[in-house]
Amino acid sequence: MLPQNVIAASLLAAGLLTTMCNVVRRRHHWPKRSNNDTPFVHLGQGALSPIKNGFHASQQQHPYVDRMEQLRCFTQPTESYACPVMPATLSETSLIFVRTRQQLADMARALSKVAEFAVDTEHHARRSYAGFTCLFQASTGDHDWVVDTIALARHMHLLRDVLADPRIVKVAHGCANDVLWLQHDFHLYLVNVFDTERACFVLGRQQRSLAHLLQELCGVKQDKSFQQADWSVRPLSREQIRYARTDVHYLCFLAGKLRAELQGEALEQVHARSLQLTMQLYHHASHETTVAAAASHIMRRHLGSNIKAAGRGFHAAMLDDGYRVNAVYGCVIALCGWRDTQARKDDVSIQLVLPDVLLLALAQTQPRSQLDMQQLLGSHPAAADLPPCSVRMVSAHARKLCRVLAHAAPHAYLQPGSTRPINEGSDAAADILSSTSTSPRQSQSADARRQWLINKFSAKSVVYQNARMLSREGELLCHCDMRKIEWYLGKGIATLESDNPPTIRLLFEHKNADELAGSAFYSQSKANRCVVCGECRHWLRYRVVPSCYRRFFPAHLKSHRSHDIVLLCVECHIEAHKSAEAVKRSLAAEFDVPLLPPKMNILTSRTGDEQLAGAAESSAPAPKAYTFTPGTARRAALALQKASSSMPEERVRELQDTIKCCLGRNPAVESSGLRPGDLEAALLDGLGRRKRSRLLRNLGNLQPDTDDRLSNTDGSDNAVQASNASRDCEGLLDLPGCLTCASTASSTLPHAPSVLSQPVAKPLLTTESGHWWHGSKVVDAVQQQGGDEALDNLIRRFRSAFLEHCQPKFLPQAWTIDHTVRRQFGDFSIYRNVGSSEVQQAADL
Ligand SMILES: [Zn+2]
Repeated sequence: MLPQNVIAASLLAAGLLTTMCNVVRRRHHWPKRSNNDTPFVHLGQGALSPIKNGFHASQQQHPYVDRMEQLRCFTQPTESYACPVMPATLSETSLIFVRTRQQLADMARALSKVAEFAVDTEHHARRSYAGFTCLFQASTGDHDWVVDTIALARHMHLLRDVLADPRIVKVAHGCANDVLWLQHDFHLYLVNVFDTERACFVLGRQQRSLAHLLQELCGVKQDKSFQQADWSVRPLSREQIRYARTDVHYLCFLAGKLRAELQGEALEQVHARSLQLTMQLYHHASHETTVAAAASHIMRRHLGSNIKAAGRGFHAAMLDDGYRVNAVYGCVIALCGWRDTQARKDDVSIQLVLPDVLLLALAQTQPRSQLDMQQLLGSHPAAADLPPCSVRMVSAHARKLCRVLAHAAPHAYLQPGSTRPINEGSDAAADILSSTSTSPRQSQSADARRQWLINKFSAKSVVYQNARMLSREGELLCHCDMRKIEWYLGKGIATLESDNPPTIRLLFEHKNADELAGSAFYSQSKANRCVVCGECRHWLRYRVVPSCYRRFFPAHLKSHRSHDIVLLCVECHIEAHKSAEAVKRSLAAEFDVPLLPPKMNILTSRTGDEQLAGAAESSAPAPKAYTFTPGTARRAALALQKASSSMPEERVRELQDTIKCCLGRNPAVESSGLRPGDLEAALLDGLGRRKRSRLLRNLGNLQPDTDDRLSNTDGSDNAVQASNASRDCEGLLDLPGCLTCASTASSTLPHAPSVLSQPVAKPLLTTESGHWWHGSKVVDAVQQQGGDEALDNLIRRFRSAFLEHCQPKFLPQAWTIDHTVRRQFGDFSIYRNVGSSEVQQAADL
């Protein structure tokens, strides 16, 4: 007796597909795939070609980037489009069900002779981890083709030339996923697409589904139930074939109708937006990314409702709610990790291994034994609706799951997107990384040291969660993390469009929507791996433009701009840091601003009269020279706090003077003793952002005048702080006998630096660390030289040093030396009143 799938296959081969009934349908499988974390290799990779700016093309380059670039220059059609002709009905049109190599070659030849054809695919994602393409449909309106891509997977390359031919227009409806599936399964790339869904967006149509367009413009009704059909079965039913054909048969006609509605610039917009869709590149999501996204999704979807009711973001609430939620979250993460590994191994979807509802039930009840597990499966309401295969899977792995739950220590996990504080900064992390003396394991082998560095500094969770944010019109604006998604949802200003990948649609007009939607850099998803060598097991953030400069940039040059923050592994981080340090040193020489502030002479604090009298006496103590390094004021304040009662009076006065100097005041013209708030301000000196805010919280009731200055020290408000501070100090510096002028005149440096000889306009060292003193001076000088343009050049300089020195091979597509970070703020932006003239200027450019 023949097995039934053989019978079915032979019937299929005999072309009896559409005439059969009562045939046993079998699910057809794609050859098993490894599903590991190895980066996806695109067509034509390995052949590095030099491109502009002298660096080598990254492997993330689109294989047909040249053709795409040419398509960028859109030429308006010289004559308006003729009214399109409605195609004949399906039954009057020839259909070729392509199942052989020869048929596929004939199809490619036929398509290469037309100016335009429609394309679509059908996909299966349940019994496959990465999913696979089951059908490929094409139509010219006069002829329809339906390709069995499971049978012809090895031969699909025959379509490569015609799909990538820039002279032939491919019409598709919402092809974002099709583009990626074709790349992943067959290395097929769509070039020159007219996307009818994009056209609907541009035309401002409310209803944009294909079913609606077909109904409205063609009078054809489409059965939506097939959207969820299992396309991996063979033979396909007559209705399935009909549905698959309808998806493409009328598309060219629809495109014609929409083109007639689009005029001038609108047509160009559709062109540009379709191009952007096809510029996407497929990449494998790593285990970490998938786990973090899935866990975050489960927590929000199933536990988020009561948190939302409290009017707070989920993550904030999770931190407050402490142990209980944290314990569940730890278990959810652990289970998601197990599920992802299992799904990759068995090559099935994660939902098939362990559906979300059951996963959460396990995390909440935390069964300890197989018996507990069986009881849960028998009694939990979520378990009743589960497919039998999921229940079998859980039963089979019950012991393993209990172990996973037992080991899920809630403290071991950070919330998604968060990293160690060290990643927030700065040069400090990089300095420690590159120095050879700070590791306590110095005597151990290089491997142990490397491991120590990785454990200490690498981000503890994925950085790019690749959640999607759509504009009100439904266009992809950018990829972002779950926190941002939670925030928008929590405020009720966005709706959740999809769970996988998490996608929200804004309910308001985004000020920068056009700019973002047109920006290839912000709308692409990004891989969690080292951009230089591709290491994907650990990574840390690296700021291409060192933060000692960036933090002094005006807000419109830095806020919400991630272009110059890339991920690097520990080794590449050390290398990249070296190149940045070299640029820093040359900037220090060019602008005559050393990396650390020069030594200054401190006069002991006495009133003016006493000082004069003292100076007349030969026995007066000589002023002492101090180097004001980060933390000087803090150390002085700590010493005073601890032991001022047991110190000699002179030492107390010296420490107080140090603090005053650090706060930008002249102790020589002040009465002795500190003002209220001075000590608190000094305690903040040299602290990182988090420690600083913790201290501020603890201090609580600061004096209003100092409070103002202190609370403004975070990066985003830096421009405000800098300008306020400079006003404060200019006042101070007008006083006779100003410390800065006096100290510069008697500077111990061999030459008086040009920038330094100008009055110091900011409190020198409060809350500053690393090379911030140097950074602020250089940014001031650069801005005076040539404003924003000169700052752009400074940014470019660091970028090219990074590219030249590190030769990154995995930079996100569209990362360029010339990328502009300037942005325009919305009417209600908190940055609006900061240097609004500059913002306006930037907007005008
Ligand atoms: Zn690396």
